[in-house]
Amino acid sequence: MNVSIDRALEILSNFPILSNTEVIGLNKAYKRILSEDMNALVDSPPFDNSSIDGWAILSTDNPNDRQEVESIFAGDTIPRPLQPGEAFRIMTGAPTPPNADALVMVEDGLHGVARKNFIRRKGENISKGMVALEKNTMLTSAPLALLATIGHSQVPVYSRPKVSIISTGDELVKPGSRLEPGQIYESNSILLSSLLQKAGAISTNFKSSDNIDSLRELFDQCAESSDLILTSGGVSMGDHDFVRRLLIEEGEPYFWKIKMRPGGPPIFGMWKGTPILGLPGNPVSSHVVFLTLVVPWLSNPRLFYKKIQVRLKTELKGAPEKTVFRRLKIHSTDELTATTHTHQGSGNINSMVVHDALSILPPNTSGEVGDIIDALWLID
Ligand code: AMP
Ligand code: MG
Repeated sequence: MNVSIDRALEILSNFPILSNTEVIGLNKAYKRILSEDMNALVDSPPFDNSSIDGWAILSTDNPNDRQEVESIFAGDTIPRPLQPGEAFRIMTGAPTPPNADALVMVEDGLHGVARKNFIRRKGENISKGMVALEKNTMLTSAPLALLATIGHSQVPVYSRPKVSIISTGDELVKPGSRLEPGQIYESNSILLSSLLQKAGAISTNFKSSDNIDSLRELFDQCAESSDLILTSGGVSMGDHDFVRRLLIEEGEPYFWKIKMRPGGPPIFGMWKGTPILGLPGNPVSSHVVFLTLVVPWLSNPRLFYKKIQVRLKTELKGAPEKTVFRRLKIHSTDELTATTHTHQGSGNINSMVVHDALSILPPNTSGEVGDIIDALWLID
C-alpha cells in the first residue's frame, strides 16, 4: 500500500471531487473552475475597426489629394465605402469603411503616412465558434474579461466541494484556553480550513478525541454531509491512531503511506461512499501533503505555487526512495526569460490570458533578444 506521489495522485484522480456543476453569472465566477470548453459567440473584434483616432483612407490615393468628407464615431453602424480621394475622420473603436485599407493618425495630420496595420480586423483575435477557453481553466480576471468579450454573461463551473475537516488527538486544545501539562494548541484545523478556502472549497471543522467509537460516528455524519473528509492525525503506527484503523478495518482503503518526507503516513480510502484522506498530524507534514496531493486533486496549483528553478546555496540531504521536501528560501529571481505569443494590440484581451507579465520599456527603448528589461510578473 506504500505508494509513490505520482501513484497516489493517480489513485485520487479516480475519485473526482469536482463533479457537480452549476451555471453562474460572470460577476460571481472569480477564481471558479470552468466545467466546459467555452466557444466564442462572436468574432473578436466583431467588425473591422480603428485602433486610433485619425482618418480612414485608401492607400492607393495620393496623400496630398485627401479630402475629409464625414466622421465615424464608436457605436456608429458600418459606413459606406470610400470613393477615391475621400478620407473619413474616424475615432478609436469606430467601424472602418468596407474598402478602407489604411489609417492616418491624427498626430500625423490628414496628409500623413498611411498605416495599414492600424485597422483591427474582424475576428483577428478570436473567431466565432472557436474554443476560447478550455474546460478546467481557472476564471481569474483576464479569462473573465475574455468571456465577456466573446459574448458570455453566464458560465458553467464546478460547484464548490464541501469538505469536512476532522482533527484528532486527545492532546489538542483550542488556542485561547489554558494549556495543561501534556497538551498542545491545535493548529491543523486553521491550517487546513485556510488552505481549503484558497482552494475554493467550503469547509467545516470537527474535532474528535482519540476514541474509535466517537471517530466512527463522526465519519458517518461527515460522509452524509460532505464531498470529501480530510482528517489530521491518527494515521501512523500508534496504538491510538484510529483513523488508520477504522479505514483499514471497516472502510475501503486504497493507499497507506507515501514515499515522501515530510508527510510519509497519509491514508486514503472510501467511507460509506465518501472519500477520506487522512493527513498526518505533524503540521508541516499536513501542509506539504495538502500541497502535493490535495491541491492538484481538487483545486488548481496555479493558485498555490509557480514552479521555478533555483540554484542551491545550502547542502540538502535526501532520503532513499523518498521525495524530500525541505523548506527553502528563495533569494533571487535571476535568469528569468520572457517571450511573446499573440498579437499585442490593446484590444486583444486574449493577450492578457496567454501571458503573465508586462514589460516596462522606458521611453525610446526597444528590447532586443538578449536584453534585460524591467517587467511586472502578474499573479492574477
Ligand atoms: P499523530 O499523527 O496523531 O500521531 O500526530 C503526530 C504529531 O502531530 C503529534 O505530535 C501531535 O501532537 C501533532 N498533531 C496532531 N494533530 C495536530 C493538530 N491538529 N494540531 C497540531 N498538532 C497536531
Ligand atoms: Mg494523534
